[in-house]
Amino acid sequence: MHGMSRLTMRIRFVITLMALLAWPFSYGNAADIALPDIGDSAGALISPQQEYRIGQAFFWRLQQSVDLVEDPEVNHYIKSLGQRLVSHSDAPALPFKFFMVPDPTVNAFAAPGGFIGVNAGLLLTSQQEDELASVLAHEIAHVTQRHLLRSVEKHNQSSIPRAAALLGAALLAAVDPQAGVAALTVVQASAVQAQIDHTRAHEAEADNLGMLNLVRSGFDAQAMPTFFERLQQTSRFYTGNKVPEFLRTHPVTTSRIAEARGRAVTYQERSQRRDDLSFYLIREKLRVMTTSNLIALKQHYVNTIKKGNNRNTVATRYGYGLVLSEMGEYSKARKAIKALISEDKERLTYQLALADIEKANGRLSEALTIYKVNQKLYPNDYALSVEQAIALLQVRDPAQASALLLVQLEAGRGSGQLYKLLAQAQGDLGKTSDAHGWLGEYYYSAGRFEQSEEQFKLAVKSARGDQYQLAKLNSRLREVEATQVLMEAL
Ligand SMILES: [Zn+2]
Repeated sequence: MHGMSRLTMRIRFVITLMALLAWPFSYGNAADIALPDIGDSAGALISPQQEYRIGQAFFWRLQQSVDLVEDPEVNHYIKSLGQRLVSHSDAPALPFKFFMVPDPTVNAFAAPGGFIGVNAGLLLTSQQEDELASVLAHEIAHVTQRHLLRSVEKHNQSSIPRAAALLGAALLAAVDPQAGVAALTVVQASAVQAQIDHTRAHEAEADNLGMLNLVRSGFDAQAMPTFFERLQQTSRFYTGNKVPEFLRTHPVTTSRIAEARGRAVTYQERSQRRDDLSFYLIREKLRVMTTSNLIALKQHYVNTIKKGNNRNTVATRYGYGLVLSEMGEYSKARKAIKALISEDKERLTYQLALADIEKANGRLSEALTIYKVNQKLYPNDYALSVEQAIALLQVRDPAQASALLLVQLEAGRGSGQLYKLLAQAQGDLGKTSDAHGWLGEYYYSAGRFEQSEEQFKLAVKSARGDQYQLAKLNSRLREVEATQVLMEAL
């Protein structure tokens, strides 16, 4: 689906980016640069700030071609799981960014600076939370060990554009294998071979460190080889370009599985007992959100519940409730979710599902009551506050919506969705300049710089005599314009 022109553009983007942000003026003699044993010799070439900017540029480019999952509960889940692993990694202070792509293929990918993407297919394929965590831990290790940058460094003996093209190809291959593989063929065959060998070393390192992180975070070390085995079995049914993307970039060999299995045995720690029901519930929510066939999914739930021997019956019943709501069968949906609530009154996921059914059914005051009651139990929970703000905006209470959203913003939970809702709230309150400003932030976060610039200009125009607001907006406008010039040059 990806034409050569777009591909060439993207490779050029990475090459220029590397030259602009990262490449030292003089590279020195290849022989002077020893290959690193640990991941910090790339630091001589690229500072953490530059690394973050490469990741950010990649993240913007990705959002320009892919819509990310915009469900606050799902996003909060993946972020919390990722952050739990990061806090036990070698770089607990690095500002990682976890996000979900609504793509059914099994894939996860990491860009420099800590941008980690997870495809819906990966979560749907995982049979327990520990398996999902094992892949996240593997990706986190790629970032903390700066593997992509070290790959480039290894190729310093070749020309700079070729080395940069390799980085671009590696990034592309992780997200978009067709484009990535095509990009690799652009580069000379010898370099490709070297790249693959190097990647295997990095894979082994990411497996080792990832498993250590997994155990430190209280997960089961065995989950990693178990998930590898699942992938290997799954891949038997695939041929040619249907191979799951994670397998293309992460070939699972029998020896890799055996190695992981052997290492897992050496970890004596038992995984802690913990509440992993949220994993199973989020998995069903994601399944309903991303299915292309609601009727078949409904039938699947009906059959599974009938059999009654499924170990995640509760999650199946929850998914069934969601699918009914999606199909407009609100009273049945309400009944299914209320039955779950009667067994587990305080689980926020059920409360949010019930409120969502009421909202979809046009019963906004019922939904608002549920949100209000739960704010007492879970004050300022991210998903709860975002969903409540959406309902408040629907009943024209922008003041309360704005207050809830600003609390989230001050807690450092800014997101594109939050900026967009804030823009709507400020607009409804008649604060035109603020509304344009927040919309500017929304477009900026999504890498849509032209629209962002336009909104900040409108914000400046409507700021009228407010000097403080004007100074703030003008400085933001200059930043947006500078970013736009840089990204357009790529
Ligand atoms: Zn990997």
